[in-house]
Amino acid sequence: MPLKVDQLIERDGPACVWCGREPWRRDLTLEHVVPRSRGGHATPENAVVACRSCNRRRGSKPVDAYVRDLLREGANVNVTVLRETLSRLARSERRAHRDAAARQLRRLESV
Ligand SMILES: [Zn+2]
Repeated sequence: MPLKVDQLIERDGPACVWCGREPWRRDLTLEHVVPRSRGGHATPENAVVACRSCNRRRGSKPVDAYVRDLLREGANVNVTVLRETLSRLARSERRAHRDAAARQLRRLESV
């Protein structure tokens, strides 16, 4: 069953995981924490809600790198939520998720 943004909004709320904004529903999209281009899978554990502009700007940057960009700009990033998301992925059965998440979680500690 394909992942639906509405289900993720139900699970995580209507705020962008990156910038914390709550845009109109049509401006929210599904974001893969570990990008598909880096071996991430389209599974609920790897999916969060993001605004379209963050989704575009982040591209396939690692989580910690995009968080640093946002913090530099003074954005209201909820680092705790991102740490929780990465912790969830670090316990994944999928190696690609586990390895990427563990690495990014370590780097996010110094943010
Ligand atoms: Zn955003």
